[in-house]
Amino acid sequence: MKTDQWYLPCLIIGSCAVAAIEPQQHRQQQVFMHQQHGIDAPLQGRYLHITDIHMDQHYLTGATIKSDCHREPKKHKHKKKKQGLLAGYWGAPGMDCDSPPRLVYHSIDSIAKEWKDKIDFIIWTGDNARHDGDALVTRTKKEIVGYNVKVADLLRSAFTLDNNRTLPIVPCIGNNDIHPHNELRGMKNNPQLLEFSEMWKDFIPEKQQKAFRKGGYFAVDVVPGLRVLSLNSLYFFGSNDVVNSCSDSTGPGARHVKWMRSQLKKARRDNVKVIIIGHVPPTVKTFKDSCLDDYIKLSTKFKDIITGHMYGHSNMDHFQVISRGFGNMARIGSEDNEQDDEDDMVQSQKDTNRFISTLRKQYKKVKKVRNAQDLVVIHVAPPMLPLFYPTFRINEYQTDNSSNQFGQWLKYTQWFTNLTYWNEQIDPITRKHLEPGFEVEYSTDKTYNMTDLTAESWLDFAQKISSKDGKDLWKTYLENMFVKTNNDWYGQSVPIETNPIYDWWNWFYDNVSNLMFS
Ligand SMILES: [Zn+2]
Repeated sequence: MKTDQWYLPCLIIGSCAVAAIEPQQHRQQQVFMHQQHGIDAPLQGRYLHITDIHMDQHYLTGATIKSDCHREPKKHKHKKKKQGLLAGYWGAPGMDCDSPPRLVYHSIDSIAKEWKDKIDFIIWTGDNARHDGDALVTRTKKEIVGYNVKVADLLRSAFTLDNNRTLPIVPCIGNNDIHPHNELRGMKNNPQLLEFSEMWKDFIPEKQQKAFRKGGYFAVDVVPGLRVLSLNSLYFFGSNDVVNSCSDSTGPGARHVKWMRSQLKKARRDNVKVIIIGHVPPTVKTFKDSCLDDYIKLSTKFKDIITGHMYGHSNMDHFQVISRGFGNMARIGSEDNEQDDEDDMVQSQKDTNRFISTLRKQYKKVKKVRNAQDLVVIHVAPPMLPLFYPTFRINEYQTDNSSNQFGQWLKYTQWFTNLTYWNEQIDPITRKHLEPGFEVEYSTDKTYNMTDLTAESWLDFAQKISSKDGKDLWKTYLENMFVKTNNDWYGQSVPIETNPIYDWWNWFYDNVSNLMFS
């Protein structure tokens, strides 16, 4: 790890431009202000991305990892031996357990405290409910709805400003937010969609309610000149067996594609930029073939107005390059088995290893593509769930509309909190656990030396990190993919023999990393 990539903990941390006749001019008058509930506010040029919260009300401090952090070890004397392998107070980083509610409350609260006055809106890409991994405590529909209601309430109240204005919050449905998971039917008046439309009625513009109730998708102008299309990726998701692929023109997938196309056309007419968000990222492994094809077709056709494709679900911080025109481009990095899309969790070292090696091959292939116009770059933000360490992302975009660059994605800063450290911090007087602070993990400008985040810049970056000269940067990229879980604090705070992440990381470096450069 390079020390210069570390920063001190510092987290002590409307309605759109009317297109009409002269959209550019109209935007010029309004661009530095956006109106919500009749109050003008200056644009901050930033937005928050949070994803995969996976809240678990059954989480129990001191429980075994094997029980999904739900039950204490049977024998008391066993307990001591297992220290470091039991559920921590704030979560069990690096393990398969979900998020304790206290982590969710604290994270949302502290993110909002630090950021609500510095951002313009929030994208929130699904999976609020815990995984269904514990056969002894199976998830019920009621429980899943409960997590979704809870998190929506938390965000709504946390991101309400002093003047009573709530920042625009743009949600989408995760595969773990429905019951049974992955299965969302395309029927008329789907009760699950009606339920979400009620839950999210403050977040979905009234004019979009009809589209949402029909298909689980909607469009919203988050600031004048910038529109978010919130997709319902479940209708494209390969694991959703109860809907047909997008080649069935009467199915919900095809209807969704049709909606997406008309929205993108409308956005171009309205002269606004678009951010596309969804839960399951479009890859060969995760999407039905025909749906992926349609997605790529639309994304390349409208790439001049799309500033980013923001997703969650995979739980690893990375980006994918997908292509329709370049033979197996999309297949590379996906076909072999990226990660288990059944329950999102990284299944094994072997799978992770394969995932990384195919991703690298994918990046390497970029330079062979004659027409970069055929490539689509998909971004997967890491989760709040402490599969590694809890994270959130602050994106920055261009607010200057004097050129055609308004809305362009410029930079992001990735934040995390080292739960291994914070689990052990106890106030010496009150004996209470100290609250975790978030710190910068990395940023695209300082760490990756990127001056903006256009698709072209990401393609350059892909080539750079997959080349021989980019060996150090590739290593940094991998460290970030796993949220720096092999950091110094970790090594110091947990004895090595009981430190699974450390073991994993060493294993990974010994067996995988070096091979890739051969
Ligand atoms: Zn998911």
